[in-house]
Amino acid sequence: MPDVLCSKCRRQAILFQRYSGLHLCKTHFITDFEAKAKRAIRKHHWVCSGDRIGVAVSGGKDSSALLYFLSKLLKKRKDISLFAITIDEGIRGYRDCRVASQIAERLGIEHVTVSFEEEFGITLDEIVEVRGDRLSCSFCGVLRRQLVNRVAKRNRATKLALGFNLDDEAQSVLMNVLRGDADRLLRQMGPAEGLVTRIKPFLYIPEREVALYATLHVEGFDIGRCPYSYNALRADVRNLLNDYSWRHPATKYSLVNLGERLAAAGTAVGTAITLCKTCGEPFIGECRPCRMLSEVLHDQL
Ligand code: SF4
Repeated sequence: MPDVLCSKCRRQAILFQRYSGLHLCKTHFITDFEAKAKRAIRKHHWVCSGDRIGVAVSGGKDSSALLYFLSKLLKKRKDISLFAITIDEGIRGYRDCRVASQIAERLGIEHVTVSFEEEFGITLDEIVEVRGDRLSCSFCGVLRRQLVNRVAKRNRATKLALGFNLDDEAQSVLMNVLRGDADRLLRQMGPAEGLVTRIKPFLYIPEREVALYATLHVEGFDIGRCPYSYNALRADVRNLLNDYSWRHPATKYSLVNLGERLAAAGTAVGTAITLCKTCGEPFIGECRPCRMLSEVLHDQL
């Protein structure tokens, strides 16, 4: 079979973008990828002089690619610093913090690791033992979000960078629609007391391109699968969306665009935030981590 050539330079292509109709070689793929991530940063004013950016790094493809990209982008900026944060949820046979540690070390980036066990006194496996595995991802997501914010603040981060890609964001918007969660759809994320501003440079980049970028640049990222991932509502939504997007390639962009437009028309999150009297972390409505942990402790008795 003859090689497919790059639409820009006629070298051998490594990627076909269905949504743009372009075949891209390695060089043009990397240029295109990094231009999109930089555009997202400029559009949202996500990086400024004086920033100390905490990068949430699980060791998987998205967060490892993000750490590599930000270190490349900011390596000459003496006025901006980066550090990596890894959360050990306590999932036997899955989370191995040494993977993220080694990636950060190779890039010369400071790395902080904290665990559910140290901070909440319980691992995710223990929570599953008490509560069953049906809500494993809800517990994991709620506790991890709070902990990564806590660790970012403790380490004086001004921004918290997440490896969310286009697929993740489109799935989140669709999940909120399917749950009928208008509050979340209308929630405008911005600076708020106690909440480190989150940035998502890969917001407009499809998951498969982030995976390719990671494969080209990061050695030894984690390709393991969480033993609880079959429980996630997200897995159903991912399959549904991938299937639909195969026939309608612009769908994920449309969903992300919808999410941004609804948020812009909604209320700034800062107006609804309260600080929890128990843990000191910000919340809206109720402090879900504290409520969930007290339920687990109650069931353990
Ligand atoms: Fe946590 Fe669920 Fe992700 Fe596993 S699949 S790491 S339990 S959110």
